Amino acid sequence: MVYNFKFDQQNVRKHHYFLLLSLIQKHKKISRSQLSKFTGISNTTVGKITKSLMKDDLIIEKGQTEGEIGRKASLLEINPKGAFIIGISIDINSIKIALVTLNGEIVDKTQVACKVKHHPRETLDQLITLTKQFIENKPKKILAIGISMPGLISWPDGLAVRVPQFNWHEVEVRDYLKDKLNFDIFVDNDVRSVLLAEYLFGNLNNMHNSTCIYIGSGVGSSVMINGQIVRGHNNMLGEIGHTTMNPNGALCDCGRLGCLQTYICISEIEKQTQRSMDEVILAYKNNEDWAVRVIDRAKNYLGIAISNIICTYNPEAVLLAGPLIERFPEITKNLEADTKKHIWSPLKESFLLLKASLGEDSDIIGASALVLNNFLKNTANNEKR
Ligand SMILES: [Zn+2]
Repeated sequence: MVYNFKFDQQNVRKHHYFLLLSLIQKHKKISRSQLSKFTGISNTTVGKITKSLMKDDLIIEKGQTEGEIGRKASLLEINPKGAFIIGISIDINSIKIALVTLNGEIVDKTQVACKVKHHPRETLDQLITLTKQFIENKPKKILAIGISMPGLISWPDGLAVRVPQFNWHEVEVRDYLKDKLNFDIFVDNDVRSVLLAEYLFGNLNNMHNSTCIYIGSGVGSSVMINGQIVRGHNNMLGEIGHTTMNPNGALCDCGRLGCLQTYICISEIEKQTQRSMDEVILAYKNNEDWAVRVIDRAKNYLGIAISNIICTYNPEAVLLAGPLIERFPEITKNLEADTKKHIWSPLKESFLLLKASLGEDSDIIGASALVLNNFLKNTANNEKR
């Protein structure tokens, strides 16, 4: 009984510790009395917990509240260099590794061109060697390693169930790396990690209900509800690339006809036109008939996909991300107006259409966001509103 009591007390304390850390992260600057007000935790307890957070170097005092009647209070913020996360992205042609602060800033990074091998062990062994080299002489306080990669990844066990781009099936990414690197490892797919990164550090700040559509060699989406990524039964929620848009449409690489991605992903557009995406876009800019038809059709189907997502999830924002969006801004020109043509009128003004703001490093920042989000998990709904 005594043991249980102690255990519970420790758990409550740990929970409060991460809750306050999460609120400081979320509000950027916040006073102790605001923390107490938002959480219902007494001033004394908030004082004790913030003291241990400071002792652990996770937060610092910086500046004071202004304009309030009475005594000014010190403001607390995250100590960006108090602890670090290793963010890793694995893509078909490269591995990126970064040292990331708790504020999502990249302190150091390395990128190695390497063709992902069909034999996963070789790629993972190379990743282990690169990570060990990278971590050498780095600050000691590394919380964990986050990994962002394409494909169907199970959560939280980090099994790469299927990665068509790499030709991988049932690869135990997390367990293999955890064993060899001796860190906690969090693995998820790139669509989710981009959404998390933008939520924690980018354009979706404080938008607790949002979705992301990611378009590259395939099409995927991710969904956040009340500040938490929703995953579905098998962590496959959001696989919109294979929703049927036209049962008589073109053959998709999944073996079915008329999937969404046959209209809007780069590899399909290249396959259907027999040109590179750069050539298609150039022809589109030159008003060549065939290219205008292909791109206008892509925009139309993207608009329909956005409309379906809005009807299904009622998000505050839809984030557009991925290589197609980043490299070819023509795709998003007038997209909001095009999308609204498809949207049911009560929902027309309900959402923002945004682009990812973290640029080409969003994958490694996203990988670190997986760790941070887990570090701060179960705290998002505890704030008193
Ligand atoms: Zn398909």
